[in-house]
Amino acid sequence: MKLLAGVYEKAQKRNPNEPEFLQAVEEVFESLEIVAERYPQYVTDGIFERLTEPERVIMFRVPWIDDKGNYQINRGMRVQYNSAIGPYKGGLRFHPSVNLSIIKFLGFEQTFKNALTGLPIGGGKGGSDFDPKGKSDKEIMKFCQSFMTELYKYIGQDTDVPAGDIGVGGREIGYLFGQYKRIRDEYCGVLTGKGRMWGGSLVRTEATGYGLIYFVNEMLKDKNETLEGKTVIVSGSGNVATYAVEKAQSFGAKVVTMSDSNGYIYDKNGIDLAAVKQIKEVERKRIKEYLNYHPDAVYTEGCKGVWSVPCDIALPCATQNEIDKDSALLLIKNGCKLLAEGANMPSTNEAIQVYKDSGIAYAPGKASNAGGVATSALEMCQNSMRYAWTFEEVDAKLSDIMKNIYKNASQTAKDFDKEGDLVFGANVTAFLKVAEAMYQQGLV
Ligand code: NDP
Repeated sequence: MKLLAGVYEKAQKRNPNEPEFLQAVEEVFESLEIVAERYPQYVTDGIFERLTEPERVIMFRVPWIDDKGNYQINRGMRVQYNSAIGPYKGGLRFHPSVNLSIIKFLGFEQTFKNALTGLPIGGGKGGSDFDPKGKSDKEIMKFCQSFMTELYKYIGQDTDVPAGDIGVGGREIGYLFGQYKRIRDEYCGVLTGKGRMWGGSLVRTEATGYGLIYFVNEMLKDKNETLEGKTVIVSGSGNVATYAVEKAQSFGAKVVTMSDSNGYIYDKNGIDLAAVKQIKEVERKRIKEYLNYHPDAVYTEGCKGVWSVPCDIALPCATQNEIDKDSALLLIKNGCKLLAEGANMPSTNEAIQVYKDSGIAYAPGKASNAGGVATSALEMCQNSMRYAWTFEEVDAKLSDIMKNIYKNASQTAKDFDKEGDLVFGANVTAFLKVAEAMYQQGLV
């Protein structure tokens, strides 16, 4: 980094305890150096610097009472990162690891991802250090109601529209929506990922995973290849992983792994997704229960080992920084030729350098996992029209959006003489869109 080094150093000084946030900024700024040279007005008008500062950070106490009658206190937050091209949009994460650095990095990434979708949505993210694991339905409801009793003041269908993320699925969105409606007496599209009977869009549940595979198809098409017969490894067994596996299998891929935060399963015959859905979505149990359905599969404690399984394609779909340099080297050594991110920032910057050096096809999450938020934007659109599209209509729009993201990112990379570099292509395409909107809107 040369031209942007000063801005990055300032961000480091201002956010000394935010490693994930700084990692995300560094990754994007590495791509933008050449843009800073070509468009000096974005440096002089402080566009880069403004992008390292969220528009607003809201932090609040979430008190609730557990089933035993004990008082519990969690921390809630919402980072309204950037509204240059539309209302803040991005998920809520409930996980004990949640802190400001993680939510800020997610909000920063979301701003660029949302720009890539081509839809009018700004970037935001939120969540809590609440751990939904092992909690009863009643406890989840009480927590969600308390969380929304504070959050409702800051969101709205034209202001900020949260959705799900790690630990926040259909059940949580239901409780959050119910509380918002009760307080505001307003039935509107203030949250996405809603139930299908009450304003949710068809395909939203499947969208991130399906979109990831549509993106992979485009990457393969450029090499005159398809998913048919490819061996695929997937990490995670939540929303993104499940529907990535479903779609990959429908195109003839053989998916051999899935994981959770305790360990991973390897099934040489191909993952039985119906068994995984039963364990994860119905029983809400651990992935090792898979052995009850398929005793010949192998379960290994610890999730890192999943990257040692030989594959043609790797799809990290669990969490940030799950692939470090060593895991990346192992993947390449074992024959991986394509890696597309379902999770947000699952690769460390050192791992990304390994992908680049080895020349494998690599898709950064902000491009390849944008199908979720794109379909959320389609849900907002249907809510505004008080109308619902069919599954096929939404799926076709999702597929077109993913194709366009791929086309635009690859074209930008070509335009800057960096053919095949999707990290560069995605970062620059998204930045130019957000930066131009900020520039035209003056000093805000
Ligand atoms: P879920 O909560 O549905 O699933 C998360 C999965 O990842 C679970 O299997 C979970 O295991 C595992 N996991 C979570 N944290 C860790 C950890 N620290 N170490 C190892 N495994 C972990 O979340 P989603 O599927 O919605 O999200 C997965 C990723 O995709 C996240 O990075 C999210 O930001 C990103 N994403 C999600 C979108 C969406 O539409 N849902 C959209 C775009 C990106 P366990 O059950 O043991 O916790």
